[in-house]
Amino acid sequence: MNKFNLRLVAWEVTRACNLACKHCRAEARLEPFEGELDTKEALSLIDEFKKCGDPVIIFTGGEPLLRKDIFELVSYASSLELRSVMAPNGTLVTLENAREMKRVGIQRCSISIDGVDAKSHDEFRGQPGAFEGALRGIEYLKQAGIPFQINTTVTKQNLHSFKDIFSLVEKLGAVAWHIFMLVPTGRGSEIRDEIISAQEYEEVLNWFYDFRKTTSMHLKATCAPHYYRIMRQRAKQEGLKVDKSTFGLDAMTRGCLGGIGFCFVSHSGQVQPCGYLELDCGQIREMPFSKIWESSPIFLNLRNPKAYKGKCGYCEFHRVCGGCRARAYTMKGDYLAEEPLCTYDPKKIKA
Ligand code: SF4
Ligand code: SF4
Repeated sequence: MNKFNLRLVAWEVTRACNLACKHCRAEARLEPFEGELDTKEALSLIDEFKKCGDPVIIFTGGEPLLRKDIFELVSYASSLELRSVMAPNGTLVTLENAREMKRVGIQRCSISIDGVDAKSHDEFRGQPGAFEGALRGIEYLKQAGIPFQINTTVTKQNLHSFKDIFSLVEKLGAVAWHIFMLVPTGRGSEIRDEIISAQEYEEVLNWFYDFRKTTSMHLKATCAPHYYRIMRQRAKQEGLKVDKSTFGLDAMTRGCLGGIGFCFVSHSGQVQPCGYLELDCGQIREMPFSKIWESSPIFLNLRNPKAYKGKCGYCEFHRVCGGCRARAYTMKGDYLAEEPLCTYDPKKIKA
């Protein structure tokens, strides 16, 4: 296996969903989408994942619970000793299916909460009752003994209530809180005005760095690659060495792993660097997934620091950050362009 082992794969097992969230990259709807992988294709895809390392599989959607064979797929992944996690929206979780998730080997669920109360969350999710539904789902997960993390997308609207959202997350008993930076693709492109500015971004990530120290809960800034630059800058100011003993797994990872240790497979088998970066890296019905992972020219570019343009190409934090390729693509039209929302001025001189 080459050094670019697949560590994590997000698999959109279906694009159908019972909600219509404002920021949805999949622009999901309740009716089934054409071309979804059938059970046989889905099972062989799991075999292919296994060939690329021992990735954690994120069963996502759409709403993964709307896929009829979902438990058979997870059960198969478990039989190959692959770790499975699931990203339901919570509203369709029942005690019965939560127990089934536990039985087939789901090790963690992530549930999104984007507002501190029903009004703000439901507004964002586009569905009255979504907040109550998510809380009810969480209760069932707890009863079934499945650990859960909360994901929150950062927008201008909820920026001011972050502390309150965190208190709610803590009260609910989540094992982790992941904050996501909005990437304007899919339905998210209609709410470009909700994107915080580069300066606000810098402030949130600095706040996040400090806030992390106040809790034992695992906090992670996801799809906010320059957090890993800020973490190192701040640690240096504080005289701290960045390693596993001081920053845990955050010291070992990279801001954007798209195409490097992570990828996304769509409901119809299109392989992409991530769900927000809709670049066709190969179709699993035409080429085995393992071959795509190994040889897609887009993946090879993402793994080559010399291919990056602008300041992300010569930045001394490139190795730990890399900038968000999806934001570069949607905001600048080039997935290798510099991250549009980074204020940093690299010290290295452009070669
Ligand atoms: S390109 Fe990287 S940082 Fe941006 S959304 Fe995708 S995985 Fe996240
Ligand atoms: S310039 Fe690019 S690589 Fe450097 S910190 Fe900013 S986003 Fe990351």
